[in-house]
Amino acid sequence: MKCFYAPETEAHDPQFRLTHGRLLHNAEQAERARLLLAGLDRLGLATETPPEAPRAALEAVHTADFLDFLEHAWDEWQKLPNCGPEVVPNVFAQKAGSTYPRDSIVGRAGWHMGDTSAPIGPGSWQATRRAADCAVAAAGAVLAGDPMAYALTRPPGHHSTADTAAGHCLMNVSAIAVERLRTRHARVATLDIDVHHGNGTQGVFYGRADVQTVSIHADPASYYPFFVGYAHETGEGAGEGFNLNIPLPRTTTDDAWLAAIETGLARIAAFAPGALVVPLGLDAHENDPLAGMKISWDGFREAGKMIAAAGYPTVLVQEGGYLSEDLTTSLESFLSGALGRG
Ligand SMILES: [Zn+2]
Repeated sequence: MKCFYAPETEAHDPQFRLTHGRLLHNAEQAERARLLLAGLDRLGLATETPPEAPRAALEAVHTADFLDFLEHAWDEWQKLPNCGPEVVPNVFAQKAGSTYPRDSIVGRAGWHMGDTSAPIGPGSWQATRRAADCAVAAAGAVLAGDPMAYALTRPPGHHSTADTAAGHCLMNVSAIAVERLRTRHARVATLDIDVHHGNGTQGVFYGRADVQTVSIHADPASYYPFFVGYAHETGEGAGEGFNLNIPLPRTTTDDAWLAAIETGLARIAAFAPGALVVPLGLDAHENDPLAGMKISWDGFREAGKMIAAAGYPTVLVQEGGYLSEDLTTSLESFLSGALGRG
């Protein structure tokens, strides 16, 4: 299985984090990549460095204003008097009926950032650009005939919409992979098993009948992203019926989680996609510091087996999974199942 990784993604080194009114250290650290690479190493999987993807691959998902913001925000922020070291919004747009504040970097930060968890530093654009390159390269491998490919992407992407970054995510790398697969396949599905709802991916495809989105996650009634991720969200317009959310209790263990994956795969089978993207969060693990669910390594291994057995050309895109030495074994477990190694 081809695996793609770009060391330049380590240039994104977010610091700011605001949780329960306290300033903490951001959880989306470059150290995550080392832990995930160690998981690949245990399986004897080497990584390839992806070529630069065409800008059109990014524009297939994101607005020109958003991409321009991500690319230049940090430089513009540095011109503010008494600026901090990272772009962190202190206002938030209520977008309906609002005007885009094109001339203010403070205003644009509030427009394009949905919360404070994805601060932009000097290396953030380069990192999210290279992460997108990994996702595009993995999609390319699958389009070329590989049954499965893995993109070790950070920052993650599934909380970002077409024009808003949030939840530790900048560009939506999973959605970018979907659009690459759509260049060949009439229908593409997503099966998001990150412990957080894939609200950004849902938002990108919510009105479309050519992409079936499925997300299995901790109930947003008491967990991020709070405002979406409920079972009644089924799509809109042409996309009605093509979004499936399966929220589960925070106490969920393997059996209920795997049953939800089976339900998601059944919906995907009915959709008959030409290819599948798995936004592969590993933060549902019982030892993950974000404590969203209680999935074991055996559960991850079984999930990998089930997804591989479904038989679609599949792109695995790394999403969440936070700092713990257990992250290495979580990736190893999922991939060993997916590769049929027990
Ligand atoms: Zn997550």
